[in-house]
Amino acid sequence: MAEILVLVDHTDGAVRKPTLELLTLARRLGEPSAVFLGPGADAATETLGRYGAHRIHVVDAPEVDEYLVTPAVDALTQIAERTGPAAILLPSGPEGKEIAARVALRLGSGLITDAVDVFAGSDGPVTEQSAFAATYQVTAHVTRGAPVITVKPNAVAPEPAPVTPAVEKQDITFGPAATAVRVLSRTPRERGDRPELTEADIVVSGGRGVGGAENFAVVERVADLLGAAVGASRAAVDAGWYPHSHQVGQTGTQVSPQLYLAAGISGAIQHRAGMQTSKTIVAVNKDPDAPIFELADHGVVGDLFEVLPRLADEIERRRG
Ligand code: FAD
Repeated sequence: MAEILVLVDHTDGAVRKPTLELLTLARRLGEPSAVFLGPGADAATETLGRYGAHRIHVVDAPEVDEYLVTPAVDALTQIAERTGPAAILLPSGPEGKEIAARVALRLGSGLITDAVDVFAGSDGPVTEQSAFAATYQVTAHVTRGAPVITVKPNAVAPEPAPVTPAVEKQDITFGPAATAVRVLSRTPRERGDRPELTEADIVVSGGRGVGGAENFAVVERVADLLGAAVGASRAAVDAGWYPHSHQVGQTGTQVSPQLYLAAGISGAIQHRAGMQTSKTIVAVNKDPDAPIFELADHGVVGDLFEVLPRLADEIERRRG
């Protein structure tokens, strides 16, 4: 069966959820092989096998850890040349997209970025992308070479398919450009107990209707009961009620969770651009004509300060 290379996103062997989603998608196209760069492969083997990686190509050279992007490009390109994959999947972050573009150029392959779905077509992998502030769905496939595809988080729910992976160490010849930019230090981003906005299965967001920084506690209470990330509209962020890193939308973070709950958000096009591909959208707004109701799967016309606490109470009551 055709090999599908999946670039693993990890921190010292702790595999991040988007990689498990890529492995799940890769199984639709062929036999997934993980490409693991840097230290920590032993810690990742069980997880990668559990989600269907038949092989793990490991590159534990210091270059991939100590230098920016180019060593990963050298490694992925050379592994692709050795294995002749039917497709290469990467996570759609800034680094994933930069690696993908360079690998595609070197391999002479077509590139598709920010796919929200990938499936097998008669001429190879077919992708769905969400374009122009999510007003168009684009179906595409690559016509030259092994497709290089970056996929947004939450395109699919990760599904286990356990196998025992064969681990293969790969020796890579790094070009002179690989050691051009050295990483001098890394500072982990401060984060609380909540999941990352881009990776969360559930996002609960507040907008101008929340009315103040202290009022975000009602949004956070629901989020914490659901194990969700907290998002905010630009109006809420610009007012200084919530950190900019939580802004959802065209000029903020684009999310695609299983469930998106928008409270006190009108549904401006720029906000929709960041959440429209969510699987289920629930809106709470006191204005029955708010545009958010046009795309919501479920809507509650009401005051969020009544609706959210009652929702939280009900979740707590059902959990006993
Ligand atoms: P509003 O539009 O003011 O809506 C507030 C809503 O809350 C109303 O519908 C109201 O009925 C409701 N409400 C009020 N009180 C309550 C209550 N007690 N209970 C229930 N409902 C209540 N916006 C983004 O969000 N993300 C972006 O990335 C983004 N990028 C932009 C880029 C550009 C170039 C531009 C021009 C704009 C951008 N915007 C973005 C701003 C966008 O156009 C809107 O202004 C913004 O999304 C509005 O935020 P909001 O829905 O919270 O506020």
